[in-house]
Amino acid sequence: MSRTSVVTGAASGIGKATRELLLERGEKVIGVDIRDADIIVDLSTPAGRTALVEQVTAHSGGSIDAILAIAGLATPTAATVAVNYFGTVATLEGLRPLLLKSSAPRAVAVSSMASLFPPDDTLLAALLAGDEKTALERATALETGSPEEGSLIYGTTKRALARWIRSHAATDAWAGASIPLNGVAPGVVVTPMTAAMVDTPQQRDEMLKMVPMPLNGIFEPRSVAYLLAWLTSEENAHLCGQVVFIDGGSDVVIRQDSTW
Ligand code: NAD
Repeated sequence: MSRTSVVTGAASGIGKATRELLLERGEKVIGVDIRDADIIVDLSTPAGRTALVEQVTAHSGGSIDAILAIAGLATPTAATVAVNYFGTVATLEGLRPLLLKSSAPRAVAVSSMASLFPPDDTLLAALLAGDEKTALERATALETGSPEEGSLIYGTTKRALARWIRSHAATDAWAGASIPLNGVAPGVVVTPMTAAMVDTPQQRDEMLKMVPMPLNGIFEPRSVAYLLAWLTSEENAHLCGQVVFIDGGSDVVIRQDSTW
């Protein structure tokens, strides 16, 4: 039986590559995005998140096999907080009941190697508390502060998301319902999100100083799609709460053997 996967961020970059890979493999995909998708919703808003669940339920007939929460923003704005953290968590929690009839339910979300960069502690605390009002207020203050302050927003959302995955994967709702919940943390991948940052050789050199990628350097979204497809396949039955760095080595260069 062909599996049915919900892919958010399906209109571009990693989400688009993942949608295409799954379709090539003969699977069914319900693409979600703010544009150019089967289901068009704005994951930065509570209304958009409610519409996501309603429309996926209608579209799927009430049962899906996998959630791939890929949609994201990388701008130094409060919108990045709304989409990357609250939109992603709402996607996972809102669609989780639709996984319960699947014989092999799976879920994955996309964090980033940027989760390793120092966070803004106030924003991180609000995210981990699930307090969207406070988080958006703090992000707005960072957004209107110095460029350095604004630059903390993205990595902080991705750190909070990785921690959400780790703190929920082993609970009754996920592991207890036989749903592997995991994440991936890409390094620099060439997509519309990063294109303008890695356009020239000089930009690529600067980027690789910040994100060292000794293994094969900056890469194409298809490589992340292969990993996401495996994490949400029937073959992955026992990975629980892992955030897999697919980053050409930036994690091992930065954290070395301080984690294992
Ligand atoms: P992208 O910009 O090509 O794709 C992101 C998609 O998310 C777009 O189609 C966009 O329309 C959608 N989206 C944005 N806001 C939305 C909203 N409010 N509601 C619904 N959809 C929305 O970027 P990408 O590089 O493919 O990024 C995909 C994911 O991978 C993101 O979560 C990103 O943070 C993460 N990531 C990317 C890189 C990289 O180097 N490209 C590295 C690490 C992590």
